[in-house]
Amino acid sequence: MAISIDLKAPETRTAFGEQALAASPASARAASDERPSLIGLSRDELGEALGAIGVPHRQVKMRVAQLWHWLYVRGVSNFSLMANVSKELREKLDAAYTIARPEIVTEQVSVDGTRKWVLRFPAKGAGRPVEIETVYIPEEGRGTLCVSSQVGCTLTCTFCHTGTQRLVRNLTPDEIVGQLLLARDRLGDFPDAATPAGAIVPSEGRLVSNVVMMGMGEPLYNFDNVKTALAVVSDGEGLALSKRRITLSTSGVVPMIEKTGAEMGVMLAISLHAVRDELRDELVPINKKYPLKDLLEACRAYPGLSNAKRITFEYVMLKGVNDSPEDARELVRLLKGIPAKINLIPFNPWPGSRYECSAWDEIERFADYVNQAGYASPIRTPRGRDIFAACGQLKSESERLRKKDREALEAAAG
Ligand code: SF4
Repeated sequence: MAISIDLKAPETRTAFGEQALAASPASARAASDERPSLIGLSRDELGEALGAIGVPHRQVKMRVAQLWHWLYVRGVSNFSLMANVSKELREKLDAAYTIARPEIVTEQVSVDGTRKWVLRFPAKGAGRPVEIETVYIPEEGRGTLCVSSQVGCTLTCTFCHTGTQRLVRNLTPDEIVGQLLLARDRLGDFPDAATPAGAIVPSEGRLVSNVVMMGMGEPLYNFDNVKTALAVVSDGEGLALSKRRITLSTSGVVPMIEKTGAEMGVMLAISLHAVRDELRDELVPINKKYPLKDLLEACRAYPGLSNAKRITFEYVMLKGVNDSPEDARELVRLLKGIPAKINLIPFNPWPGSRYECSAWDEIERFADYVNQAGYASPIRTPRGRDIFAACGQLKSESERLRKKDREALEAAAG
């Protein structure tokens, strides 16, 4: 059974929940905070922010280095903990800026150790507070964080629950980096922090060792913010996640693919799911604009591509739709000459979805074929299905909470 941690209900607390409650007051403040965040700024922008509160020019470089260390190596979310920064400057920083984490609306832990957070970010400008979902998947030797880039999505991939939610807005760099900081807080992945008792995490190494931009939204429709955020995440003197351990997944925004390789230099994944334009037009409608031929051409030209730096092609297995031996053969033919991995994803159903998952023996037959053709093609074990945290299922929890709120309001109104 999944553990659901309701931060507002102490009676449902578990060993995990106590930590969630402890995090709650600060994060609740974050939701109504109008101070700009220092998280996710480049070093130059951080220097400008310091200059704006009167830090002398000759000190800026040193102060930026100090802050960078506190924010991204020590993982503090409170200026008062920055021991080598003078009290006067800490107070000035606190008056002008925030480094608070996003508000945790819920945290759920699956039986398999997968964790899903529904996070709330403050309104930007005239907008409203927004909610997104972030998922942590622990495995032997690695811990992967699936990060969202947008609230909702403009694309309407028919197998994906997020695709049924209209786009509300892009996430800003602080909101993208904030998801990683929050996950590392909650998992105890910063120095001096404790991992919650009973949490399933990798037995050695970093608890969040990989980041995949595969949560809610199309990251290449929020290119600048994603680029800024990933530069902070991969900065060697801070969070220091190697670009080899950061994967950006796109539904196929062809004109941005080359730019992604050249300017971000991260690993690329393509949400492929079909090998014929007719079917891909239905499953991944952006295909009507950028058909398979153009998409695969852009993949062939991806900067830095080699056998050590392969593109991952995501392929969701839909019963009777894209799982035939002919599909497997066509997949191998299409990818010929591209250093590639194929991730076969058993379909994860969500309320109202129109597809079913392929039978297990069909998935294995498909995998055998592409493996024999020389492509490493692991079948991705479904993770976090009991908390709707699996691939394509994001939205379910925030949708459920909204429905609950609506019902409560209607009941109160009589
Ligand atoms: S698969 Fe990605 S791009 Fe497609 S609807 Fe879902 S979130 Fe959007």
